Amino acid sequence: MTWVLIVHGGAKEIAPDQEDANRRGCLEAVAAGQAILEQGGSAVDAVEAAIRILESDPTFNAGYGSDLNADGEVEMDAAMMDGSSLSLGAVAAIQGVRHPISIARRMLAEPPTLLVGEGARRFAVAHGAELCEPGELILPGSDGPDRKTHDHDTVGCVALDTSGRIAAGTSTGGLDETLPGRVGDSPLPGCGFYADDQVGGVAFSGDGECIARTLLAARVMQALEGSQLPQAAVEASLTHLARVGGEAGGIVLDRVGRVGWAHNSSHFAVAWVTDSMRTPLVRLRQDEE
Ligand code: ASP
Repeated sequence: MTWVLIVHGGAKEIAPDQEDANRRGCLEAVAAGQAILEQGGSAVDAVEAAIRILESDPTFNAGYGSDLNADGEVEMDAAMMDGSSLSLGAVAAIQGVRHPISIARRMLAEPPTLLVGEGARRFAVAHGAELCEPGELILPGSDGPDRKTHDHDTVGCVALDTSGRIAAGTSTGGLDETLPGRVGDSPLPGCGFYADDQVGGVAFSGDGECIARTLLAARVMQALEGSQLPQAAVEASLTHLARVGGEAGGIVLDRVGRVGWAHNSSHFAVAWVTDSMRTPLVRLRQDEE
């Protein structure tokens, strides 16, 4: 049985001096997931491991280095879906935790599918999550007048393991300078992500309100169910953004491990590996050689 893992580091413009950091970060995340999958580990474990790397990397807008809201604070959204049981776990507008993806993953075993704000943090505390002062997630110098802002550097990962299980995960600091309490597409199933072993898995990045209004993840899943190839499915989903505007990029794999990815942003940092590839591939644009 085959295994596959694909990650993204956001649908955004990548400045030339940031290209290496984006490639390196995505490849490190792939390596963490690959180490689990090639030992026969689960897709859920692989997705969590890959996203934890991206959450620790200040190159990406997730965990450490997240964007700041209009109050100058970090509020994060993250989600995990286990396609074998259709279990969902998600947190939104959570503060003061190092790895929101691990809290989303812990929620897979619990009845609620989404916890927000203080409730999400209380769940994290009760389950021994790694806590921090909210300000510790802010990059040095990023809260001053010359603050560095990201575009859409949400991170995501989809994996298929050797038992045929598919998992999808997302993690984000949201969009820069949004209203406190704003929640984007990333913790919303059918919008920013979805996974079903019988169909495939998908994760998006981009303008959350536009992705939510056009149900991009649901569109990809429906296309896969209709036997479209992942590449065609994700490309077709992005055409729906024309009605509302906005930028996005998505990574997809189907139940037999075929991969697709597409974006209408100038760049989309993506890396992937399968059991039949010698080394992972990384790209910053679809038309990159
Ligand atoms: N999709 C995310 C959001 O709207 C932002 C991103 O992709 O960086 O919260």
